[in-house]
Order: sequence, then structure tokens, then C-alpha cells
Amino acid sequence: MHLKEIIQNSRKIVIKIGSNVLSDEKGAVNRKVMHNIVEQVNELVGMGKQVILVSSGAGICGVGAINKWSRRGDINYKQALCAIGQVELMMAYKEYFGDYGIHVAQMLLTRDDFSDPHRTLNIRNAMFTLIDEGVVPVINENDSVSVDEIKIGDNDTLAALTTTLWNADLLIILSDIDGVFDKDPKSNSDAKLIQLVENAEKLTSQINIGGTSSFGTGGIQSKIEAAAKVNKFGIPMLLLNGSKEDIIRNSMLDSARGTLFMGTIGK
Ligand code: GLU
Repeated sequence: MHLKEIIQNSRKIVIKIGSNVLSDEKGAVNRKVMHNIVEQVNELVGMGKQVILVSSGAGICGVGAINKWSRRGDINYKQALCAIGQVELMMAYKEYFGDYGIHVAQMLLTRDDFSDPHRTLNIRNAMFTLIDEGVVPVINENDSVSVDEIKIGDNDTLAALTTTLWNADLLIILSDIDGVFDKDPKSNSDAKLIQLVENAEKLTSQINIGGTSSFGTGGIQSKIEAAAKVNKFGIPMLLLNGSKEDIIRNSMLDSARGTLFMGTIGK
């Protein structure tokens, strides 16, 4: 199935934006990329689709805003940076979506929110209400209250949890890589892009996965795990290079490539 049809046939779409996509080479927020993504989300909304964003970037925005502590490993400093950066991140989303008359809503979630049925129900209700009212929820982990032991840890997992909770039709993960390759493309020039994955769980044993990149948390491993999680519910996942301008738009024109995790849907 073509990417164009997959996106066109999906009404409820979760889009996860990684820190690598949102940051420039110095680790500050790349506003041009962010603006371009918001533009494309606005187009999807204009086509009658409903969108939830799962956005990383609190950490990098924090470094950008306060210009210190970037190398401090202490958890309290990391939490402080995210607390500062989350405000910056939302201010930027508010400004860009505001240009299209779209309201955004911040939802900061933790692992506990998904393991306690009462809390999960409350999030679900808030999420559905926002979407019904035409608001775009922007979700991130509540980093300033989550210590390592209880953290979801990476937003690929958070995006997969959000996708199944909302019962979305499609999860799009925007990363700084074109998709999953058969070898690590950074060290192998002959690495080939795998465009269709039918069994995400098996994939990890079939390819040699590279490490995580400099700003992101999960690397390719957590993306494959996210795909396995949503595929289990019959929901496809699309991994695209969000650093490339108009990537969603171009996917809808069938002029971009990525990795589509289909599971066994459509077989
Ligand atoms: N929640 C973290 C942040 O906003 C990012 C987690 C991740 O990179 O997956 O900085």
C-alpha cells in the first residue's frame, strides 16, 4: 500500500516529533522545521483529520532558553531544564498554530497515568473533549515529576500508548532518519531502506540496529517497539524523516519514502 493511501485513509492521526527533528546542530530549537510541521498539521486538519501531537523538545528548549546546565547529569537539573523548556516549546506551538486559528492544549503525562484505570479514563475523556472541540493536544512526558525509575523514558513509547488509548488510525513518527535500514546507514553507505515491515517484533533480530543519536532518547529500537505495540491493535505506524521539509505533504504525493509498519493489516 502507498503512503498516500495510508495517510488519506486515516482520520485520527498521532504525530510524534522527536528532539532530533526539533533541534539544530547546536541543540537549539529549529523553528523553521517546527513551523513547517505545524503547516502540514494544519493541512491535515483542513482535510477533516484529527491530530494529536506527541512532542519532545522540552529538554532542548530548556537549554536554549537558559543557556546553561546542558552538561549537568543530575536528575534535578534535567527536570529543571524540562520545566523551563516545556513553556518555551508550548509558546512556539501556540504561536504557529495560532496563525491558523487553531488552539493547542498541553497534556503532560507519566507512566502512572497509563497504569491506573481511573487516571487513564480521565486522560481519555480530556483528550476526546479537546479533539471534539477542534483543539490540537500536544503531549509530552511530565519530565519534571518523573525520575528515571518511573519514567516512560522515551516519547516513542508515549506516542504508542497515546495511539492505542485514542484508538487512532495511524501513528506517524517523525525522526531524523529516512526510516529503518538493513544496516546502520551512518557507517554503511550501501545500507538499504526497508520500506515495508510486516512483523516489527521479528525485525530486531534481522537487522543490526545502530545506537541512539545525540539528542533523542529512544533510537531506532524504541521506534520498532512502538510499531509492534500499535500493530498489535491493527494500527499502522509510519516512520518518516521529519527534518526534511514537507515530508508529510510529499508522502501524500507519493514523492517521499519512509518505513511503513503494517503488521498483518490488509493481508
Ligand atoms: N520528554 C523529553 C523532552 O521533551 C524527550 C523524550 C524523548 O526524547 O523521547 O525533552
